[in-house]
Amino acid sequence: MQRTLTLQTTQHIGEVVKLQGWVDTKRDHGKLTFIDLRDRTGTVQCVGYQKMGELTPESVIEVVGQVKERPENMINAESATGAVEIDVREYTVLGKAGSLPIPIDTDGSEIAEEMRLKYRYLDLRRERMQKNVRVRSELTRALSEALYEREFVNIETPMLTKSTKEGARDFVVPARLQPGLFYALPQSPQQYKQLLMTAGFERYFQVARCIRDEDLRSDRGFEFTQLDLEMSFPESRESVMELVETVVKQAVTSVGGKMQQDPFPVVSYPEALEKYGADKFDLRTEQEKKNGVLAFAWVVDFPFFKKVDAKDVAEVRDGKSGWTFTHNPFSSPIPEHIEWLKNKEHIGEIITAQYDLVCNGYEVGGGSIRAHSPELLTAVFEIMGYSSEEITEGVGHMLEAFGVGTPPHGGIALGLDRLAMLLTGETSLKESIAFPMTGSGKTAVMQAPAPISDEQLRELHLATQLPKK
Ligand code: ASP
Repeated sequence: MQRTLTLQTTQHIGEVVKLQGWVDTKRDHGKLTFIDLRDRTGTVQCVGYQKMGELTPESVIEVVGQVKERPENMINAESATGAVEIDVREYTVLGKAGSLPIPIDTDGSEIAEEMRLKYRYLDLRRERMQKNVRVRSELTRALSEALYEREFVNIETPMLTKSTKEGARDFVVPARLQPGLFYALPQSPQQYKQLLMTAGFERYFQVARCIRDEDLRSDRGFEFTQLDLEMSFPESRESVMELVETVVKQAVTSVGGKMQQDPFPVVSYPEALEKYGADKFDLRTEQEKKNGVLAFAWVVDFPFFKKVDAKDVAEVRDGKSGWTFTHNPFSSPIPEHIEWLKNKEHIGEIITAQYDLVCNGYEVGGGSIRAHSPELLTAVFEIMGYSSEEITEGVGHMLEAFGVGTPPHGGIALGLDRLAMLLTGETSLKESIAFPMTGSGKTAVMQAPAPISDEQLRELHLATQLPKK
């Protein structure tokens, strides 16, 4: 017999069906046992006369039974299957559940984070998390579809790569076959996506995993996901923003998001500082906050360079001259300031062709028109104090690529974790990620980082300087 899903039961009244799923709730009424059986489509009530009282909550079972209409006064209007119940003829336990380490019939906010993440596979069964993960999946689908419709090509870029100068520390991976050499995990696909423009794809996107060794904040781990895109021959900064805005609106609307202003307001960085005291701001009224409205806005006209913050290791490393980039060293300045950059004058006043997308007080995206001539990119690194050897070593491959016919291009990366968080009305990124890290940097369920064996260390030609525990 084929499996019937709980939601389909209402179309099989009178028939004997086979259901498979979890024991959502159990109510013992003497000889009768009521079970709500849960699968991916919802729940249905099953009534059993046998030993069903033995079933433990959250066990996985198979039930064969007849779908019966409930008497009028027993109909549960709250449930999509509330007009029927299953008269159980046989049942089998497919996966017995012992006692549960955490409850899953609440929204989970009362449970310590360490426990929720240690047992994340269970935590994810709760209704709220099922919804969040599914909304995120739909958002990813909608964004991807909107881009496919506009001739974007979905292309993967390497995970084992070289340092990308995105303003954070790299996670490094030892190369077993080349002792003493290391790969870096990508902070973003920035350089590869630009190289895809050189390669003639014109429109690229990817759901990209990015890894940055940044100081942890309560709701930020080392990894995040961005919807990364790049396009060639943009008319202007505004034309990329316009395309991105259309794609975001189409995707957000299709997953049920309500947006505030259309078109998104565009605020300059100085104006944002003056009006809101920050470059991320929340334009919602109190009522809109209650109604789950998303208030998107663009921020433009950021300074290209800033003075290095001596307390920030990555800034000190990148900004050897005392100047470092504010957003992205691969950006172009606005057209009016290209000469200043080339001549390395008015450094603090040069404005980058960067645009950030903010929503409800969070930065949900950032991108720019890029430098696509060797001269401009070289000038950026010279301003940051790089010698010509260091420039060749760091971005020589980009300069070479720019020398074989690279079109003007620009792009953006949208933060999928944040967008999904806002769409689901959550306030922590962890609620929109299936397996996030704990606040102290442990991975969910598997508890990395963890020691590796002496044999692995030897194979990798690594020695740790820590005393043995
Ligand atoms: N690579 C940039 C980032 O990850 C985004 C972009 O400029 O497209 O922030």
